[in-house]
Amino acid sequence: MLKSLTNPDKPFTLGILGGGQLAKMLASAAYRLGINVAIIENHINSPAGELTKLDFPQGWFNKEELDRFIEASDLITLENEFIDPDILEYISKKKKVFPSPQTMRLVQDKFIQKETFKNSGLPLPFFEKIDSIEELLNFSKSVSYPFVLKARKYGYDGYGNATIFNEENAIEAYNKFKESNSNRELLAEKFVDFTKELAVIVARNSSGQIEVYPCVETVQYRHICHEVIAPAEIEEKIRKEAQKIAVKCVESISGVGVFGVELFLTKNNDILVNEIAPRPHNSGHYTIESNYTSQFENCIRAVCDLPLGSAKMYVPASVMINLLGTRSGSGVPENITKLLKHNNIFLHLYNKKESRNGRKMGHITAVANTQSEARAIAVSAAKSIIW
Ligand code: ADP
Repeated sequence: MLKSLTNPDKPFTLGILGGGQLAKMLASAAYRLGINVAIIENHINSPAGELTKLDFPQGWFNKEELDRFIEASDLITLENEFIDPDILEYISKKKKVFPSPQTMRLVQDKFIQKETFKNSGLPLPFFEKIDSIEELLNFSKSVSYPFVLKARKYGYDGYGNATIFNEENAIEAYNKFKESNSNRELLAEKFVDFTKELAVIVARNSSGQIEVYPCVETVQYRHICHEVIAPAEIEEKIRKEAQKIAVKCVESISGVGVFGVELFLTKNNDILVNEIAPRPHNSGHYTIESNYTSQFENCIRAVCDLPLGSAKMYVPASVMINLLGTRSGSGVPENITKLLKHNNIFLHLYNKKESRNGRKMGHITAVANTQSEARAIAVSAAKSIIW
């Protein structure tokens, strides 16, 4: 058991900024390792907050609450990339925090992130920062339509992206991003006509030890991840190349923790970096039941600078399907019994109080001898649950 840094009679307490499903799965892995968890989130009854007595539901914008959370924690990590690096800086003066505020400054703004990767020689789609309509129209002349206009900060599940097909579109999208008080900073990026989207999770501890997870395929629908197929059904050579690129991405931002690197595979079998998430990633949920060490356990090991565990799969194939809300209303699903009749599936429900259309309410992972077998089980099981 890791001991508290302030009281050797108590277990070590890992503070997590955020109380959603990623924090919940991190907390489950922490408890298994004999580590306590403190959660800070801006509401009560968060999926992770409900698991611990050290729940700080007034959020990090409340200074007294933040101070109480810092006091209760031995070391702090995060479950989302939107925390102001100034707040992380404040925390880091009192307790260690990983990923570091410096890493978060490189990641949080997609333009700075892409510039950092470009300067490290990593392959990316052509992109430019857009500070005016003129720059946007010039960009559209230098690449052909369509292209993608992206908010530099606070984008998730595609909220913050617009695909641009013509000049009229471009002006409309630009004005929408700039309207009222949002005035979001923007970048434009060449549209990638990808054949598959890939992802690789990388764990790295402060001592520099690295574990790389298998390259998986992620299937997006309307910019939201629906399915993850592990390993990706592509040539071994490409999978290895994707892993190499992902490690380089993490090294280029001196990342400590667990990182999800999202990639595009083109028709010519080139790999381009889309973006990096400085936290456990939806594409790595399957690792809970399919790999020797899950992404959540390795995240904890990495931030605590413990030896990392093997990232290898111990099943031949695995498919994860997100269970997305289909209604506005209760977060308690129907037809669980029907779903549980399927063999070889693992069900995760996040205990969110309310369902919304497209909201991630849970996920299932199916394991099998082949990807298509696992997918058939997962798809059939996922169909039977309703929110
Ligand atoms: P978010 O940060 O909101 O997840 P991303 O920039 O990762 O947004 O984009 C979400 C999805 O939109 C991607 O997974 C991909 O399907 C699509 N997308 C993003 N950028 C491009 C691009 N340059 N070309 C084609 N599709 C893209």
